[in-house]
Amino acid sequence: MKLLNELLEYNGEFVKEERFKDFTTTKFPNKRMVIITCMDTRLVELLPKALNLKNGDVKIVKNAGALVTHPFGSIMRSVLVAVYQLQADEVFVIGHHDCGMSGMKADAVIESMKERGISDDALDSLTYSGIDVKDWLNGFERVEDSVAHSVHMVKKHPLMPNDVPVHGLVIHPDTGKLDLVIDGYQS
Ligand SMILES: [Zn+2]
Repeated sequence: MKLLNELLEYNGEFVKEERFKDFTTTKFPNKRMVIITCMDTRLVELLPKALNLKNGDVKIVKNAGALVTHPFGSIMRSVLVAVYQLQADEVFVIGHHDCGMSGMKADAVIESMKERGISDDALDSLTYSGIDVKDWLNGFERVEDSVAHSVHMVKKHPLMPNDVPVHGLVIHPDTGKLDLVIDGYQS
């Protein structure tokens, strides 16, 4: 069975058997917090479990690398919406060890694109449009530095209220162990 059909079939049973009842909650986070973290598959269940977070406790914003790279990108917008509209009072940036974005080289990604049929012309046209694809695709060297940078981006954002603590942490994708990088109560 194809993946889409598999999901739809399971979903039909899930709804019919009213298994959603275990997850009933509201759109407001019970723990009044928003997490920015990585889309890594190992964190899907491990991260909430390791932090004792249940359905309804938290807003979670994910991307590759838990990166806040643009002050007016969708990650930052999501955090602002969580703070101003959804009662989140604290922000947590949680990177992780062994991240796919750690040491990622743009050249390797671009090579994969070419192998999948993206032409040099397409890449050149982006360059001529002022888009630095290489810069955009580059990862980071140290996850602690990247988390600190993202915390800084959020904390210093001109639209972020001063009284919102912004914490920085790194989680281990095997054990769930958290290491503190920045204690948002101290800064
Ligand atoms: Zn990652």
